Amino acid sequence: MGCCGKAIRLVGKGASVTKKLIVGKRVRVDTQRKRLKICGECDLYSCKVFGPVCGTLYSGKERNEEVEGCGCLLAVKVSLKGESCPRGKW
Ligand code: SF4
Repeated sequence: MGCCGKAIRLVGKGASVTKKLIVGKRVRVDTQRKRLKICGECDLYSCKVFGPVCGTLYSGKERNEEVEGCGCLLAVKVSLKGESCPRGKW
């Protein structure tokens, strides 16, 4: 399971999109920028048409997040308190 359970996720193949309500509190904007900068320098960072993703897009399948990334949308992930990098970078 991905680590970003409170965030918006894209599920399944193609353009099937599921939104989950964001209930977590947000971190400060400077913290979000700092996190996103770290992500931007990571080999798991991938930029899709809908924004940056950690690794391959989350599909609901079990994965080794440290190797494959969590599949979360980074614009959301970096903004939430309680979220963390699966590689421990932030
Ligand atoms: S969350 Fe961590 S592993 Fe994922 S892209 Fe950002 S720095 Fe890399």
